[in-house]
Amino acid sequence: MKEILNIKNLCKNGILNNISFKVYPGEMVAVMGPSGSGKSTLLYNVSGMDEADSGEAWYNDKDVVAASEDEKAKLRLNRMGFVFQQMNVLSNLNIIDNISFPAIHALGKKKEPEIKKRAMKLMEEFDIADLANRMTNEVSGGQLQRACICRSMMLEPDILFADEPTGALNQSATKAVMDAFVKLNDEGTTVLMVTHDSKVAGKCDRVLYILDGELKGELKFEKELSKDSPERDTRINNWLTSLGW
Ligand code: ADP
Ligand code: MG
Repeated sequence: MKEILNIKNLCKNGILNNISFKVYPGEMVAVMGPSGSGKSTLLYNVSGMDEADSGEAWYNDKDVVAASEDEKAKLRLNRMGFVFQQMNVLSNLNIIDNISFPAIHALGKKKEPEIKKRAMKLMEEFDIADLANRMTNEVSGGQLQRACICRSMMLEPDILFADEPTGALNQSATKAVMDAFVKLNDEGTTVLMVTHDSKVAGKCDRVLYILDGELKGELKFEKELSKDSPERDTRINNWLTSLGW
């Protein structure tokens, strides 16, 4: 199968140093590494939110490093979804309007009924449908992050980029958010996710370790090892220790 991301010798301002890796369609990949190691910068450069100095970052047949701003904006809007630790919701809009407004902005007010319908469907899928009319300060952190996941899925992206999506959440909220990512991934969405949390990384198929802007290691789980197995967490922690973290 051809890769969905093919990153070759990516460099950015001394922060990313010759990073190369591939991600295949349908994979769920975690990026781990100490604070300041370049994880967020990597996501921004791979998705074309930031401009790399050199190297290539292929999304299917498009190199986002060489692409124009316009091409990159279209790609991000139509093919990529984004979820961040800072959720960037609008506090004057209720949950369903927060989920819907970027899609309405992109597709036009005429499409609002269909858009709202899709928003409801996604909210049902992630168990927050009853919160549609709540304001953003009337739901929990985990519920709000699931709303942000719904928002990121409105235009049916092929790949979701997530930067510490559970970084501000407690254990039970983290579990609910990770269940949502795993479900989306099971349905075919590719996921590239930065995390500090070995339990979160344990839900992924593969883990990349970044230190000082360099890719230092990779851990892959066999398909047979269940995502719910505590063995995954143990393996990640032993692996990180062997890498000196
Ligand atoms: P991580 O997400 O792994 O914590 P970052 O990618 O945010 O790391 O940052 C990597 C390094 O790059 C840090 O040392 C940070 O201070 C630096 N950095 C991040 N963004 C910029 C920027 N826009 N300009 C200069 N330095 C930056
Ligand atoms: Mg970061």
